[in-house]
Amino acid sequence: TPVEIDRPKRVLLAAPRGYCAGVDRAVIAVEKALEQYGAPVYVRKQIVHNVHVVSELEKAGAIFVDEVDEVPEGSHIVFSAHGVSPAVVKGAADRELQAIDATCPLVTKVHREAVRFSKQDYWILLIGHEGHEEVEGTMGHAPERTILVNDPDEADRIEVPETENLIWLSQTTLSVDETMETVRRLRERFPHLKDPPSDDICYATQNRQVAIKKVAPDADLVIIVGSSNSSNSVRLVEVALEYGAKAAYRIDYASEIRQEWFEGVASVGVSSGASVPEVLVEQVLADLRDAGFENVEIVKTAEEDLMFSLPKELRTNATGER
Ligand code: SF4
Repeated sequence: TPVEIDRPKRVLLAAPRGYCAGVDRAVIAVEKALEQYGAPVYVRKQIVHNVHVVSELEKAGAIFVDEVDEVPEGSHIVFSAHGVSPAVVKGAADRELQAIDATCPLVTKVHREAVRFSKQDYWILLIGHEGHEEVEGTMGHAPERTILVNDPDEADRIEVPETENLIWLSQTTLSVDETMETVRRLRERFPHLKDPPSDDICYATQNRQVAIKKVAPDADLVIIVGSSNSSNSVRLVEVALEYGAKAAYRIDYASEIRQEWFEGVASVGVSSGASVPEVLVEQVLADLRDAGFENVEIVKTAEEDLMFSLPKELRTNATGER
């Protein structure tokens, strides 16, 4: 028999959540490319890490590939929001592919920092997750001078060639708190470690973490919409648990919600990663309504109005408006 709850049932809906400016731009880039050049348009890797977005674009005529050598010579190829290394750009040029670069400008910013500091003979301690596409792209900009640091424990172990000229940079979608812990432990060992000129963890990642931190202490259950390979979505689950949510789950679709999650639950926190279209959150809210969670309170911690102009290859006028 289900446990009766005497507290009123409610949803705490985090804001900001969902699409960031970089994802919005990357998805529109593929749509525009399909419009301008016709299908198929090839995309290297998932344009953004969301299964729904990828499958919708596939239906519209996008073909997702792992590497440029799978693409017929002369075709159009879009580079994903996570960015690419110079070797990938060269590989595409060698095949005479028409490249459209949907790398998020905030990832490009980190690429530029990697190039600049490696030229100034710094060793770059890149905090990020091994194998993530963004990390591969960033490391590829300074392959000889970059050392990857996955987490705080690795900060205690990594070996560096010298301890003077060190700077840390990071992946854009990490946990802010964990990254600061990694930096603290690096600096214990390497007091000369220099900070990046500005935050590498992007505004969208930070804002979504701040919002879920506010929601989590009051939530019996937190549901994060986002795909398993979406770094910022997975971090939201971790942050929710760290900040007091009694349980937290990540789902791609509302259909993955399990009835047993609601046992003894009066308040459900909801948020979504930066690559998640709002329609998927709306489906979750509809299912929650059906489960008796009709009262939705918005927990808003920031306004976001950033927008990026489209990749230059797709701009139809000088200002890049669409
Ligand atoms: Fe850009 Fe941040 Fe969005 Fe990644 S999560 S695409 S870095 S704005």
